[in-house]
Formats: sequence, structure tokens, C-alpha cells
Amino acid sequence: MTTAQSLDVQPTPLALLLLGREADPRSERGVECPGDLPSPSDPDLVERARAAKEKLGDKVFVLGHHYQRDKVIQFADVTGDSFKLARDAAARPEAEYIVFCGVHFMAESADILTGDDQKVVLPDLAAGCSMADMATAEQVAECWDVLTEAGVADQVVPVSYMNSSADIKAFTGRHGGTICTSSNAERALGWAFEQREPSAGKVLFLPDQHLGRNTAVRDLGMSLEDCVVYNPHKPNGGLSAGQLRDAKMILWRGHCSVHGRFSVESVNDVRERIPGVNVLVHPECKHEVVAAADYVGSTEYIIKALEAAPAGSKWAIGTELNLVRRLANRFAAEDKEIVFLDKTVCFCSTMNRIDLPHLVWTLESLAEGSLVNRIQVDPETEKYAKLALERMLALP
Ligand code: SF4
Repeated sequence: MTTAQSLDVQPTPLALLLLGREADPRSERGVECPGDLPSPSDPDLVERARAAKEKLGDKVFVLGHHYQRDKVIQFADVTGDSFKLARDAAARPEAEYIVFCGVHFMAESADILTGDDQKVVLPDLAAGCSMADMATAEQVAECWDVLTEAGVADQVVPVSYMNSSADIKAFTGRHGGTICTSSNAERALGWAFEQREPSAGKVLFLPDQHLGRNTAVRDLGMSLEDCVVYNPHKPNGGLSAGQLRDAKMILWRGHCSVHGRFSVESVNDVRERIPGVNVLVHPECKHEVVAAADYVGSTEYIIKALEAAPAGSKWAIGTELNLVRRLANRFAAEDKEIVFLDKTVCFCSTMNRIDLPHLVWTLESLAEGSLVNRIQVDPETEKYAKLALERMLALP
């Protein structure tokens, strides 16, 4: 596969890119709320959420992902990225209900890592993740068959990003692989290559091609030609047996609709508009954007970098807009100028499904003893997904 082909990404609906709040048919499955949602214009929503949470007391623990809107985040007991939140939930065994203000795969991970008696709840079941939905269990099983027929499956170790379904995590566990986050992807890939003969080992990286490519090239010193892209919508992934044999990184053709929108033009443009600006982007961005940026790192890295930044410094951030806005407000008092990397707004539409009416409905239902929107991973899937997660936790 040529470099140009390997950098190809699937188009994202224009409305989603521009507004971030429109329908994302790949991941919002049209699941209706099974109860009576309060009206968004109800002036008592904040008070109702507070009262229901107070009534539940220690029985409930509310997790808020960094990309959630402020109106929801104000009710979070902890905030963080998906993995930190799952671990925070596991550290609160006294909480009977874990309300996960995030998306579906995050709630699944929390269910896997928490006790059997803890119930994980997602306020809106339509809050999926377009990236996680780009790799289904059937597609990945078919890919493994292709690798087997090409005679390379024995050399391949799967590494799956945390942003994947429980099914994909279980596939990874079954085939001797590990999970990674955007913070530890380099260590996870290093570990994976150590599991095979140094000259023959390969990684199947799921489902975000950009994180896989950026980590392989930036951190492990591979070339773009070491990477091929497996397209689940083409016969044999669109790859020949020879291409699979020659590759070191087999990247699944998935991407994040939010981070995939940043371009080199956005970087050049902000540098023209704001002289001296530092460009800091998430590794889910395209490789050419990461190569053009000054700094690259996970959401936790971004927050720490801004905390450590000197007064008077200027930053353009390439990640989800709710987080960037919150950081801009937080650091304005310290004279740090923080702007969004792109000119147009860009929320994660599925994250934004979790709004105050859904949170109020969830908390009030739980307070009345009615368990709603529970996310529960079946025991067989949980067993192997946990194995893959435990390998990640054991990474050096
Ligand atoms: S920001 Fe991207 S990876 Fe994260 S939940 Fe939204 S679509 Fe998925």
C-alpha cells in the first residue's frame, strides 16, 4: 500500500463536522429513552439533579468524561479520560450505581472493571462512539481469517485502543494481545513486538489507524511504509498476502470523527493568526497534523502541559471543544491564551447525547429504586476483555 493510500480516511458527514450535534448514524442507533425525559427548558433541572444525587448519597458515583458539556460535568464526582474513570469506579466498591457520563464503550469498560454487585448506567443508550463502531466482532473475526490465510496470524499480536467495544477487547484477550490508551500506546506496542521473534513480529492495531500509525512512526521509529491499512469493507481488507507479510503494523481503517477533522491547514492558519502559538494535538489526529504540531499527547497530557505552561504563553489545542473551552476558561486567569485549533466548532456529537434532562431522568429513576439503562457485558466477553485489560495494567 502506498503512503497516500495509508493516510486515507473515511469521510465524515459534513453536518457532524460543522455542528457536532447532528445525527451520527454510525453510532447513534436511534435508541429512544424508555422513560419520560424532563423538558430541556425545565428551569428546575439543576435543582432536581442535585436533589436526586443527594438522596442517593454514597450509593451513586457519577463519572464525567473530559469531553462532556459543563452542565453535566458539574455533577461529576470525578472527571478524566475513559481509563482513569473506569479505575476510579473500581476504587469505589461501596457505590451500587456507577452513572457514566461518557459513551457506550466506556460504560462497558467500567462494568468489566467493577464488582458484580455494581451496576453501570449510561444516561442515554444512544451515546455510542463512531470510532468504536468502525470495528465489529464479525469484521475482526474475518480479518483474522485473512491473516491466517496469508500465513501471518502466528506472527501477529493484536493491540486494541481503549476506544473499542467489549467484543473487540475480548478478541484481543483471546489472541494474546493487550489494550492501550493514548498515554501508554508506545509501551503497549513495545510489549507486543517483544512477544514475537524480533524480525517477524507484527501488530494488528484496532480500531484507530491514526493512533497506531503515530505511535509506530513517532515513538518507535518505524517508517510509513511499515504500516498498511486493513479496510474491512474490501475483500481481504484490500491487501495482498505479500503486503501483509511485509508489514509491521496492520492498521484497522477506523478514525475519530472529531480528531480526524483537524488539518495541516488548521495548523498553518492558527500560526499565521497567532504568532508564537504552541500547537498541541491529540494522537488521534492524522499523521500529517501530528507531524506539523509542536506537541502531541493524550487529554491528560494536554491538561498537564497547560498547567505547566508559563504565563503569557499561547496555545492552539487539537482535541474536543468542550474540553478546550473549559481549559481556556480555567487558565485565562493565569494569562494563558488557549484557543481551539480549528476555526469551526467541533463537539463529539455522541458525547453530547448525555445532557441534563437524561442525567436528571437517570438520577431520579435510581433514587426511586428503578434501575434504568444498565450496561452489562456478558460473562464470557468480560473474561477475555478483562484478560486484555489486565495485560495493559501489567505493562512495564
Ligand atoms: S471523541 Fe472520537 S473517539 Fe471519543 S467518543 Fe467521540 S467519536 Fe469516539
